[in-house]
Amino acid sequence: MVEAYIGIGSNLENPLFQVNAAIESLAHLPDTKLVSSSSLYASKPQGPQDQPDFVNAVAKIETHMSATALLSALQALEQEQGKVKKRHWGERLIDLDILLYGSMTIQTSELVVPHPEMQSRDFVLLPLRELASDIPVLGSVDALIKELKETFVFPLNT
Ligand code: ADP
Ligand code: MG
Repeated sequence: MVEAYIGIGSNLENPLFQVNAAIESLAHLPDTKLVSSSSLYASKPQGPQDQPDFVNAVAKIETHMSATALLSALQALEQEQGKVKKRHWGERLIDLDILLYGSMTIQTSELVVPHPEMQSRDFVLLPLRELASDIPVLGSVDALIKELKETFVFPLNT
């Protein structure tokens, strides 16, 4: 059994609904238990600014799936939910990223774990802080948050 953290984001077609639907789907993944999920946050897009704000959350799961099987399962969920890739760092209906997979570091062409951008992403670190104060490989989440120059993420009152 491995503890993994999943980053969730959406900025199309009722993002709040999409993020909640993704969390619900994670709860039904085979050989996997949804342990907890953060509250929802709104964030400004990084990259192209001519796109809607994002809704973000982080979920913690326990899984018997390998990291590559988990990536495939998340990509299948994205497809089921209707993800169409438009442009780099652009708008997306749903994005499911593996932030952490136990204390493993992985560096293949398909999968990089810990997720290479998670340390600098306020919309990952703030929701993650609700679920963990210390994380494998990267250490204190508060320390990572203190490194952020600015934050553009706001709790959503849902
Ligand atoms: P984005 O990089 O904006 O999240 P996609 O969700 O379309 O865009 O993912 C692009 C590719 O990123 C995927 O095909 C996947 O192989 C790769 N990838 C590398 N590391 C990870 C990770 N930790 N979690 C999810 N996808 C990853
Ligand atoms: Mg992704």
